[in-house]
Amino acid sequence: MGELAYRGSQVYHSIYAERRFDLANFSNLPAAFRKRLAEAAAIELPRAVRRHVSMDGTVRYVLGLSASSHGQKPTTIETVFMPEENRQTICISSQAGCAVDCQFCLTATLGLVRNLTAGEIIGQVLVALDDNAGALKPQTNIVLMGQGEPLLNYEPVMAATRILLDPGALAISPKHATLSTSGILPGIERMAHEKVRPKLAISLNASTNEQRSQIMPINKKYPLEALIETCARYPLRPWEHITFEYVLLGGFNDSAEDARRVARLVANLRAKVNLIPWNPGDLPYHKPDAERIEEFRRTLTDKGVRAFVRYSRGQDVMAACGQLALLENAASIA
Ligand code: SF4
Repeated sequence: MGELAYRGSQVYHSIYAERRFDLANFSNLPAAFRKRLAEAAAIELPRAVRRHVSMDGTVRYVLGLSASSHGQKPTTIETVFMPEENRQTICISSQAGCAVDCQFCLTATLGLVRNLTAGEIIGQVLVALDDNAGALKPQTNIVLMGQGEPLLNYEPVMAATRILLDPGALAISPKHATLSTSGILPGIERMAHEKVRPKLAISLNASTNEQRSQIMPINKKYPLEALIETCARYPLRPWEHITFEYVLLGGFNDSAEDARRVARLVANLRAKVNLIPWNPGDLPYHKPDAERIEEFRRTLTDKGVRAFVRYSRGQDVMAACGQLALLENAASIA
């Protein structure tokens, strides 16, 4: 617009560091430029279509995205805000729907609706922070674990990550940002070379190829041996480890033998395992027994693997991945 370059930095700072979304309030810009800017551009955030507040304080948003400037169609996605004592965690989506087809995931039943733009990915964080502005804790964690496979929307996800982690923008610490993948090996290899990147989490969920291929068809393309080998080559920063997410599906992957095999798989990695007891939803899997969960965790710990049990938050407002989106779809069809 013919302005000096530092005006760009001022706009960037106002939006991402100060989270101001009305150009009229950009008081660090001269009034005449503010006016020209407002005529030429608008700041648009995803809009909250639904807001479900759980008894534990978790807020699950169904956010509406309008047709993007890239010619993509309007859609809805899910974002979750989880308050804790000293921090908040925001779970964001990278795609609307998902093509990966994990059998335990409700988002999979939507198929891929579309990729999100970098702006739509960051917009989810801005909306969640803004909506909870009065109650924010000093630390914000970001997890790319909502709808979609982030490594299949690589460029926008990394562009968003660079802004989220920029100390001059949202200033999220790289230690507090995690990308969870179903195991897209070329994406993991590419991410290894990024200067700015989130931590890596792998959705493991099985201890053998046969079992994993049954619930995660992507395993046929990128089997366990190749996945573990790629993880072993991944250049971890000194403070970093790889997290393996393991959804415990009662009677399917929660035996002591499974636990021993998982321990063997990750034995030579700097890793930890998060055990997530299955959250019953519309899919035909069972909640694992409490005893089995504990035995699984103990088996891993006894073999020197750091393992933790994580319960999904906001269970009373539909915690299984994709449930809210499905509800929205059903509502719009009805
Ligand atoms: S678990 Fe993640 S990668 Fe798998 S289908 Fe669901 S959204 Fe996609």
